[in-house]
Amino acid sequence: MAVAPASSEAASPKRERWTFQWKELYDEVITSGLCTGCAGCVIACPHDVIGYEHEPGQYKPFHLEDELGPTDCGHGQKGCTSCTRACPRFRDWETEADEHLFARTRGDDEPAGIYKDILLCRASDDFVYEVGQDGGLVSAILIWCLENQVIDGALTSFLEGGDKGGWKAVPGLATDRDQVLRGAGSRYTYSANTLAYDDAMAAGLEALALVGMSCQTSIGPVMWHRRVGKVGKPIKLNIGLLCSKSFDDSLFVELFEVKYGLRREDIVKMNIKGVFQVWMRNGDYHEIKLKECHAWTREGCNHCPDFAAEHADISTGGIGDATDWTLTIVRTDLGRAVIEAMIDDGVIETQPGDADPGAIALMNRLAAKSRERWPEWAAEPVRLGLPTKK
Ligand SMILES: Cc1cc2nc3c(=O)[nH]c(=O)nc-3n(C[C@H](O)[C@H](O)[C@H](O)COP(=O)(O)OP(=O)(O)OC[C@H]3O[C@@H](n4cnc5c(N)ncnc54)[C@H](O)[C@@H]3O)c2cc1C
Ligand code: SF4
Ligand code: SF4
Repeated sequence: MAVAPASSEAASPKRERWTFQWKELYDEVITSGLCTGCAGCVIACPHDVIGYEHEPGQYKPFHLEDELGPTDCGHGQKGCTSCTRACPRFRDWETEADEHLFARTRGDDEPAGIYKDILLCRASDDFVYEVGQDGGLVSAILIWCLENQVIDGALTSFLEGGDKGGWKAVPGLATDRDQVLRGAGSRYTYSANTLAYDDAMAAGLEALALVGMSCQTSIGPVMWHRRVGKVGKPIKLNIGLLCSKSFDDSLFVELFEVKYGLRREDIVKMNIKGVFQVWMRNGDYHEIKLKECHAWTREGCNHCPDFAAEHADISTGGIGDATDWTLTIVRTDLGRAVIEAMIDDGVIETQPGDADPGAIALMNRLAAKSRERWPEWAAEPVRLGLPTKK
């Protein structure tokens, strides 16, 4: 299949010189509470001076050099601006990514972002469908794109230690069907899939899919718009997971194990459908009220305004009545080309999104709700469409 370029940049007027470096990122994003932990800045740093701890209670970048301490950067002082150019929470990130992808900004009636089509999809392959979280669409896309040379690798998520490792989500690289399927399903703790980028580069890969929570899917478009250099170039396909929050890893021990006796290594599947659903190795099934889990919300999610992965080529979720189908929001020409080609090849089945109108209405409600978390002191357009406070 001939696939159009991932994104075509809209003609842009002459821009002001971009001088912002780690110091501004630290003040305006990392310590202000806007940082999601997406790790965009980490992979963009050409001097490797941004570290990241992918551990419970952490999931944030920090500065590694001793010279100017944690709040400033010697390379930044000398003109390096890569980290702020890559950050999808720095200044006018939403407007810039919208302009880049869609040549316009979203309207106040588009809380879930700009899109072309909404469908319900499921993998035709029984195994892919079975191991997938909802309809197995994300895994089906990755497999199809790898087998049709649209991509040569996917930055995605795995379970540390495989099936028996105890549900610690970790980023990783998938380059074939087996690896994709090993990573299928949802973990509701954080995985900064972006961090698999270095492995992809070390393997000489050139065309990547990034699978990520909403916060991660704005990295590519923001990088492309702000011309971060060659780092954004290999990211060709951006697949988003709808998301209202992720949980800190300590949820497993402090709530699931201590209160309910559910050991993480005995859990075989989890889902969130109004409640936290947990399936155990011995066949038992448990439901835990979401209200009880709120105290373990990951800090990086508290101000996140993007429920619907608004800058992905294809955003995917599991809300609505059509359980076992993936709610699929197709946003870009590339997203549409991939879905149409997969339908032609018979690898996915689809229904129109209208088959479950309640799901679309719910998506818009949840998207508006997430936007309320964006602080009034931060970039104003992100709150567009919310009722103004009297
Ligand atoms: C933390 C989290 C919160 C979510 N919240 C919602 C929600 O509120 N509403 C909603 O409708 N949908 C939500 N989703 C999306 C939903 O759970 C499914 O991922 C989506 O519908 C795709 O299903 P699928 O069967 O097509 O994907 P699959 O074929 O199962 O593929 C899922 C892909 O997601 C990757 N992945 C799994 N866990 C993570 C993780 N923690 N971080 C990054 N990548 C991961 C896997 O590696 C795989 O590539 C959430 C997902 C996650 C991970
Ligand atoms: S939001 Fe992402 S890119 Fe921005 S500072 Fe945090 S980890 Fe870095
Ligand atoms: S709510 Fe989801 S998308 Fe937003 S910061 Fe948390 S994990 Fe990322």
